[in-house]
Amino acid sequence: IEQISREIGRMVLNTRLYETERRLVAELQEIDRYKGELIATISHELKTPLTSIIGHTELLEELSTEVDSVQAISRNAQRLNRLIENLLNYSRIQDRREHARRAVDLTVLCENSLDLLAVQAEQGGLQVKLASPPSPVVVYGDPEELARVIDNILSNAVKYTPAGGRVDVAVSADGSWGEVACTDTGLGISVVDQSHLFSAFHRSSNPEALSIPGTGLGLAISRRITELHGGDILVESTLGEGSTFRVRLPLSDRPVGDWALEDR
Ligand code: ADP
Repeated sequence: IEQISREIGRMVLNTRLYETERRLVAELQEIDRYKGELIATISHELKTPLTSIIGHTELLEELSTEVDSVQAISRNAQRLNRLIENLLNYSRIQDRREHARRAVDLTVLCENSLDLLAVQAEQGGLQVKLASPPSPVVVYGDPEELARVIDNILSNAVKYTPAGGRVDVAVSADGSWGEVACTDTGLGISVVDQSHLFSAFHRSSNPEALSIPGTGLGLAISRRITELHGGDILVESTLGEGSTFRVRLPLSDRPVGDWALEDR
């Protein structure tokens, strides 16, 4: 009887703990939803006046004799615009449920992204190479979101690598995983910073990296997107030497372009 009553006691305690845990999780989810809504609303409200400011600055750039000042206003307005875009993307990723998925070739995503970065890389004096297998490396997902991940990783490599450096992008397939590995000879990231790198708004603490404009949102968005696609992003880096970012996604056997509308 003693043993049975001990068992019952333990079961009651477990049920109570389970209930508390469930309530806490529900509360946290609610808080998270409010946070997402708040970010989305504020960003949206900021965007309207800023679009007007950018429009008028473009006009002033053509008319004004104070070219330097107008350009400074324009540069900073664009910067603010990018920050708001990132905030909006961040909150959209948090609550988008239904989206079109397609079979996408990772090599094509990298080629498109490197096309966009070609001028910036050349101006920065960087050597950029892409290595990929002859057959497509196909994953299944939202092409726009996946392109955002690849753009973010490759543009960071270009952004955080000083002149004379290299960026090597390698696409590969291994078992049931497709991978994009982006290796740069850039500033590198300390071990401490690596552990916070994928949290929203986190930027490396070294002054050289901080002097380069950024919002600290790109990697948080990228990891979230990759996880929603069943994959992950990994980083290996040595401060002062360079970094490798690996985006890993499950391979798909669908033909490239095949698509469906799905719920998350
Ligand atoms: P952002 O570049 O807008 O600040 P990210 O979330 O994309 O935001 O990156 C977060 C931080 O990680 C950056 O501020 C930078 O300090 C560091 N980082 C990202 N990629 C690299 C890289 N390839 N080399 C060195 N530092 C990097």
